[in-house]
Amino acid sequence: MKPKLGKQRPNHGRPPSRPPIGTLGCLFTVLVVFTNACGGDGRLNEGQTALQASTTATQITATTTSTTVLPTTTSSLSTTTTTIPLCAAPPSRFGAPGPHVIETHDGTTYLFGENVIAADRQLAVQGVKAGLVYLDKYLGGVGRGLCIDFRVDRSRASQGEYISGSKLILLFTVDTGYGSTPEAAHPRWHLAKTAAHEYTHHWQAEFPRGLGAQLPGWLREGLAEYAGFHAVIEAGIVSDREARTYALREATLTDAKPLPEYELLDATHPMNYGLAQFAIERLISYRGDSAIRTLWSLFERMSWGDALQAVYGMTPEVFYADFASFRAKGFPS
Ligand SMILES: [Zn+2]
Repeated sequence: MKPKLGKQRPNHGRPPSRPPIGTLGCLFTVLVVFTNACGGDGRLNEGQTALQASTTATQITATTTSTTVLPTTTSSLSTTTTTIPLCAAPPSRFGAPGPHVIETHDGTTYLFGENVIAADRQLAVQGVKAGLVYLDKYLGGVGRGLCIDFRVDRSRASQGEYISGSKLILLFTVDTGYGSTPEAAHPRWHLAKTAAHEYTHHWQAEFPRGLGAQLPGWLREGLAEYAGFHAVIEAGIVSDREARTYALREATLTDAKPLPEYELLDATHPMNYGLAQFAIERLISYRGDSAIRTLWSLFERMSWGDALQAVYGMTPEVFYADFASFRAKGFPS
């Protein structure tokens, strides 16, 4: 069988159990006044702007007051306390968020930089939603309560980063719109893919050793990329054909190395995400999506090589040889 991006793949049945939904790591309190006249119930509405802030959200407490005219005609102040997830401060290398607005969509909190254009904001929300749907459908579910810090940073344009332990995802764009500059020459749908990719790292992190350095770089990045692509394909954000052409272009770059050379991932060992994605596609062609979840669940108590043996009946060496043979024939287009 020639597995293809977005095509029918085996064993799409939902696994019987879901991972524990992560509790909100931390909260901050926003004190908001809702008057009887506006019918507010004290909850922030979907997509409602909670507050504007010019500094990091870590210590934000916003207080807004207004006067309510009660039936007795006595003027009085009423308050309702609402909590929304606190966004952890990003690592110092990113700097604090600049002026931004905070919104919530689908249980996710967004810190949108003021200069992030509306179309980019919308695409990021669509990408996260697509990732949630995909992870719920094929990989057994994923916790909510993340924060997305989406900002303009020309030097990092088109990148994304999941901050393990902080439930924080950083996304970067340019103020003229994602993909609008030569240094970030990705198609626009790539933004949504990146959001889903980073959310898949959160899925991995929900396993005790699911994101650690003990896993090969190609394995964890390949799954994030595979899930990110399929999420946006299934959501109709990009066509199957366009996404596959994009992945094939990267996987077949002339400097692409043998897969084992992508076990190490650091500043001097960059990843070929397209190739890593095809390695995951190969694994899924054997035993479907649910086996990927089984594989990840085993990392807590055995090495990745032993887990591969347990789930797929092959050592890393055998898998690498099989993948090299598959690759030599040319990835199906
Ligand atoms: Zn990644």
